Amino acid sequence: MYSKELRVRIFPVALGKVIYHASTSPNVEVAGLLLGKETRGIVEVWDAVTGPQEGHAGYVKLNEEVMAIVAEKLMTLGLDIYIVGWYHSHPGYGLFLSAIDVRTQLAYQALYSKSIALLIDPSKFIEHGDITDVAFKVFRVDGKLGVIEVPSSIGMDRKKVLESTLAALKGLNIDNSFLLQESPLMFDRAKKALVDVGKKIFRREVVSKK
Ligand SMILES: [Zn+2]
Repeated sequence: MYSKELRVRIFPVALGKVIYHASTSPNVEVAGLLLGKETRGIVEVWDAVTGPQEGHAGYVKLNEEVMAIVAEKLMTLGLDIYIVGWYHSHPGYGLFLSAIDVRTQLAYQALYSKSIALLIDPSKFIEHGDITDVAFKVFRVDGKLGVIEVPSSIGMDRKKVLESTLAALKGLNIDNSFLLQESPLMFDRAKKALVDVGKKIFRREVVSKK
C-alpha cells in the first residue's frame, strides 16, 4: 500500500505557549489551535492560539466560533499561515486520543488533510517545575490503521529555549484563557518578545503514515 512520510516541526514559541496554557490548568483540560504552514512536505507549527472553551476533567471543547474567528484574523492580518491542527491537555491521565478526540481529529483532517493533534500532559512539570518533564505527543488518524502516534521527546538542548519562551510568556502577563483576544494575535506579540529565542527552531521531525 502506498504510504507517505509526514514530518512535523514545532517552533519553540508554539510549544511554549501550549505548555504555558496547559500548566496553568492542572485539573481541567484546555485546548487551542495550532497555526503554521506546510513547507516542502513538512508541517511547521509556528503558533498556538486559544479562545473561549468548555473544559472539564476528561473533556474539552473549543467554542465553535473560535476556528472561524482565527481564520478571519489570519486573513485580516495577511499572515501566510493557517490552522494546521489543534492541541489539548490530558492533565495526569496519559497521552492518547479518546473516541471523542478521534472524531474531532477527523473533522480537522477533513478541513486540512495533514492536520495534527498535539496532546500534552503538564502534571509532572507542574509538580517538579522541570521543563523536560512535560509529556506531549502528536497523533493523526488513519482511515485504515486508526490512531497513529508520532513518537517524540524533548531533548536536553531544547530545555533552554523552552524555558526562555515560558519566562517571556509569563512576562507578557497574559490571560491564558483568552489568548485570542490579544490584539493582534499572540503570534505577533510573542514574536517580538521572543525574538531572541524565536529564531531557534524547536525541531521535531517525525514520521507518520499518511
Ligand atoms: Zn482528549
